[in-house]
Amino acid sequence: MEQSAVDTLLAWQSAARLNYTAEKLRKRGFDVEVCATREIARERLLTFAETAHTIGFGGSLSVACLNLTHTLRDTGKEILNHGFPNLTPEERDDIRRRQLSCDLFLSSVNAMTDEGVIVNVDGVGNRVAAMIYGPRQIVLVVGRNKLVKGDEADALKRIAETAAPVNAYRLGCKTPCAVTGRCASCAGVNEGSICRVTTIIHQRPLYSNVTILLVDEDLGL
Ligand code: SF4
Repeated sequence: MEQSAVDTLLAWQSAARLNYTAEKLRKRGFDVEVCATREIARERLLTFAETAHTIGFGGSLSVACLNLTHTLRDTGKEILNHGFPNLTPEERDDIRRRQLSCDLFLSSVNAMTDEGVIVNVDGVGNRVAAMIYGPRQIVLVVGRNKLVKGDEADALKRIAETAAPVNAYRLGCKTPCAVTGRCASCAGVNEGSICRVTTIIHQRPLYSNVTILLVDEDLGL
């Protein structure tokens, strides 16, 4: 069998898996769209942005990979991104607070089970707070690499093995994982730990509008 035939089979499995999780998420109260490519996801986000004046970015690499900032700025949107360069700590803090009540909040998740449970580990907590309550519309962009087979424990394992150490390295944190690439379970014993807040979202929070774009490509960490 040619590799291209194998790739076709794997593509079928990937799409089938995303569609399965999409159905589970709908049963949990979320609006869900399956996007075959990141370009389609990008177009959908631009559509969501049309009626928004303030748009919050939670610091997600998945969203950053979609290169939205300049396009949105060119259409007059106010971008609330605490990761922009040359901000003072006070300005960053102010932006994080304003993200909590923005018109449109964009983020990804650290891990999601096949059954549609969303698991995140955060250092500051602004990202997880804003994806639960506050913004008028929340859109989570989730690449297929974020899906885990299993339960919340498996999702946490993914975060400890991949997302958190690489994020710690990216952010220049003084953590063991930022040196070795492996989690050393430093939360609670290391001042520099970025693993301070864990959230598990079982259903759409009651009064929040949350749309999840499942993308059939790897996106972010
Ligand atoms: S608990 Fe500590 S060592 Fe483990 S991933 Fe988080 S910051 Fe890194």
